[in-house]
Amino acid sequence: MVQVRGVNKHYGALHVLKNINLEVGKGEVIILLGPSGSGKSTLCRTINRLETIDNGEILIDGKVLPAEGKELAKLRADVGMVFQSFNLFAHKTILDNVTLGPRKVRGLSKSEAEAEAMQLLKKVGVDSQANKMPAQLSGGQQQRVAIARALAMKPKVMLFDEPTSALDPEMVNEVLETMVSLAREGMTMIVVTHEMGFARRAADRIVFLADGEIIEQSSPDEFFSNPKSERARDFLGKIL
Ligand code: ATP
Ligand code: MG
Repeated sequence: MVQVRGVNKHYGALHVLKNINLEVGKGEVIILLGPSGSGKSTLCRTINRLETIDNGEILIDGKVLPAEGKELAKLRADVGMVFQSFNLFAHKTILDNVTLGPRKVRGLSKSEAEAEAMQLLKKVGVDSQANKMPAQLSGGQQQRVAIARALAMKPKVMLFDEPTSALDPEMVNEVLETMVSLAREGMTMIVVTHEMGFARRAADRIVFLADGEIIEQSSPDEFFSNPKSERARDFLGKIL
């Protein structure tokens, strides 16, 4: 579903992504782990070309992501993204937040978009909040709305970059549970997280990055109990 082939990226002199090769199958849940500054966010952002790359290519469902233009906009809609900060439109209701994209990009009528949005809001457990403004919701609720908004575009892949890092601890689980159920429904997901319990439970594969390089990839059991590289052992020693 996602293929990253030979991707390199520099920020000036800094080589942030070093020959990254990554294949993510349909329905697979990949958890990206690695020290701060290792390039996890940059990799996520290159996958929908929020960042340019120096060379290599990225394919979504078999189609090469072009550098720009109409085709990029179309393919980018296949990749949903949820960030640490929820980025909801502050002056729009929850329902409008979820319906705007589908109306504009997918060409749905207001009533079609609203019917779909209500189903998605229900799925993430915030349908009773549909007519409120984002500021009236808790952080966990806002983040679940952000997930519903991304899903409303019918993405083929969902990227999550530390979706629970900005949340109060008591709200972390509700967002993680939403992600677990999405994974169980077969969504293809790439997730950056520091929630190791979630990583163990939800990941099909752990991809460990350090200094812009994929150092190792393995099943969660193997990664957590028997990391192969010194750097992964060092990383786990610091966080576990
Ligand atoms: P964290 O766990 O702290 O979020 P990360 O693994 O997501 O870290 P990135 O944000 O991808 O790391 O950053 C990788 C490297 O690229 C870091 O050294 C960072 O300082 C640098 N970097 C990121 N964004 C930019 C930018 N826009 N311009 C220049 N350097 C950048
Ligand atoms: Mg990051």
